[in-house]
Amino acid sequence: MLNIRYELTKTPKAKPADESKLGFGHIFTDHMFVMDYTTGEGWHDARIVPYGEFAISPAAMCLHYGQTVFEGLKAYRTADGTVQFFRPIENFKRLNQSNERLVIPHIDEQDCLQALHALVEVEKDWVPHTDGASLYIRPFIISVDPFLGVKPADHYMFFIILSPSGAYYETGLNPVSIYVESKYVRAVRGGMGFAKTGGNYAASLIGQDEAHKQNYSQVLWLDGVEQKYIEEVGAMNIMFVIDGEVVTPMLQGSILPGITRRSALDVCRAKGIPVSERRITIQEVADAYDSGKLTEVFGTGTAAVISPVGHLKWNDKVMIINNNEIGPISQMLYDTMTGIQWGKIEDKFGWIEKL
Ligand SMILES: *Cc1c(COP(=O)(O)O)cnc(C)c1O
Repeated sequence: MLNIRYELTKTPKAKPADESKLGFGHIFTDHMFVMDYTTGEGWHDARIVPYGEFAISPAAMCLHYGQTVFEGLKAYRTADGTVQFFRPIENFKRLNQSNERLVIPHIDEQDCLQALHALVEVEKDWVPHTDGASLYIRPFIISVDPFLGVKPADHYMFFIILSPSGAYYETGLNPVSIYVESKYVRAVRGGMGFAKTGGNYAASLIGQDEAHKQNYSQVLWLDGVEQKYIEEVGAMNIMFVIDGEVVTPMLQGSILPGITRRSALDVCRAKGIPVSERRITIQEVADAYDSGKLTEVFGTGTAAVISPVGHLKWNDKVMIINNNEIGPISQMLYDTMTGIQWGKIEDKFGWIEKL
């Protein structure tokens, strides 16, 4: 159990008046959770303090060598006003998997949950009331020793910051267009693709930029060795419906083990839809498209939950999936998962945790 010190602001900000204009990741609440780590002492000095800038040395190791990890989850407000989380322990377990890869010290998952509940309790009025909007939660750890040598640090800081965010699809569930990147790669097996760490996103910006230039909204990454096998989209895992089966790349270290991915597979299994986690080549996807067996493509991730793909461009080949319309499995998964998250349907899986 953490002993959390509270230092609450005397000048709270006005809450956003128009929740339809929240967007994503621009607005932050009044407080943040902070805790320090020192070698020999462990994690200590847990506190909830006013949200704001803080000082670290220009030599802080995280600024130079990228020893950072993060997580992303949401708090949802149900119709009766309750605030709830979706499988939050999974985010803190994954934070520790990322920590291990980046040689950042383990952090107690129950302590993280306690910190999450304590902070969101203080900020619960910031959880949006509008349908589809939520409070985005960003836990992260940075190394802060002022030292220019390359080694694991001795001082870290753990933060949780909160950002009220709008509905991902303001105009309903719209298919996205995706560009298959065949020059750059995001991660390789043995690298840190499975970790939620800043460097993976830095590596992805150039592909994202190229996709935008070609009017595609996101990048589909291929494997880092042969550039044949499908990996994932920028911040989403990817699934294909081929011949009635949901096929998604297996986890083998280079892709992020999404909690939405795992949950979507569980929902499919519960509904009797066959699923397969295996290696899948972009050629197989193109062949399935040509033979009419590729009926749906969708991404899975906390931000959009389910993101149907309408256009998929691989070199000169442009595949238009399901007539650029949302397909039945994508729709079912979206309805089921958002229904559970916002408390509109019964949670038979035991995924919801109330504040
Ligand atoms: C966070 C993330 C995902 C999705 O994970 P969820 O737990 O479902 O939100 C997928 N890919 C990458 C690269 C990510 O950073």
